Amino acid sequence: MGHWARVVRDSSLKTRKCETKQLNDTHQDNTHVSPNPQSSSGDVDVLSRILEEGAAVDLHCHSRHSDGDWTPGSLIADAKGLGLQLISLTDHDTTAGQAAAAAAAREAGLLFLTGMEVSLSIDGRPYHVLCFDYDPQSPTWTTFAELRRKRFDLFYENQFQQLSDRGYTVSPDLARDQEGHFLPDPLPLALEHAGQAMSLEAAKQLVRGLGLRRPTELLYQDLEEFAAILQPGDAIFSIAHPARQEVGVSVRLSETDLDRFIARLPLVALEAFHPYHRESDVTFYRELASSHGLAVTCGSDAHGARFGRPLRRHAATQCEAFLRLIRDRWAARQPALTTSA
Ligand SMILES: [Zn+2]
Ligand SMILES: [Zn+2]
Repeated sequence: MGHWARVVRDSSLKTRKCETKQLNDTHQDNTHVSPNPQSSSGDVDVLSRILEEGAAVDLHCHSRHSDGDWTPGSLIADAKGLGLQLISLTDHDTTAGQAAAAAAAREAGLLFLTGMEVSLSIDGRPYHVLCFDYDPQSPTWTTFAELRRKRFDLFYENQFQQLSDRGYTVSPDLARDQEGHFLPDPLPLALEHAGQAMSLEAAKQLVRGLGLRRPTELLYQDLEEFAAILQPGDAIFSIAHPARQEVGVSVRLSETDLDRFIARLPLVALEAFHPYHRESDVTFYRELASSHGLAVTCGSDAHGARFGRPLRRHAATQCEAFLRLIRDRWAARQPALTTSA
């Protein structure tokens, strides 16, 4: 059992210890628990009721803060219309929509779980990993955003090299901001500034016509690098669509890589229920999760009406062990919150 696996299994114990310490130190030490602003004692009760009733939940969807169509507000409105009682917004590699979605959910009377779908790689093999129950204000995510910007810089430097190989040699510096990071659409921008295209639109057409390779693997964070910035208690993780094998997106999760994830992350679940999964995939990954002491999560991976894959009503019973873990994390934070009132 790896370090993180032990952290997961001892998480409720550690959290309580930390809270006792917090009470004594008048909240000076908050390093072990990142409070989720969305978990009040009322939320613990609501989650208990959702579990008892097997109410409808969805733990995987996207807004326009990544590649989805919804605003956080319109996502919550649609979730409410569908009768969902708990939702997690899991945009790719960003915490940007969390506050707006949480506020809209509170307004609409829906329970909200903070989420994010992180692009991680193991020896270059790409995976999507769902990150849950974290504090968007934690400095961990500022560091993560900085690492992501460096990845984008690598990605675009590669694209400029390809451009040069095709005979269009322009300096990447023509498309950087004062901090040295690339501006949006850097290739067309640099071509226009260098006078190699009449307008930005013409430059975009030129770039599109070249059909450059988009090295998406450069945008994936190495698992070791990502694990190094995580603090105990920051979040818990579930591997998204483990059966999905698609070039530039993710490989089918092997047992060897599962062991690597367990060793490096507080991994608590596999997303066995996903629209791309066949019945045999669901069975396989439920069993794999069970044999590794992991729970399962269920999500629609909906991106909004334009993408034709709707939100789904999953009975809370489908991901019961996972939701109990969330409830335990929220409940463990309550004594400190109550005392501070
Ligand atoms: Zn994904
Ligand atoms: Zn997704």
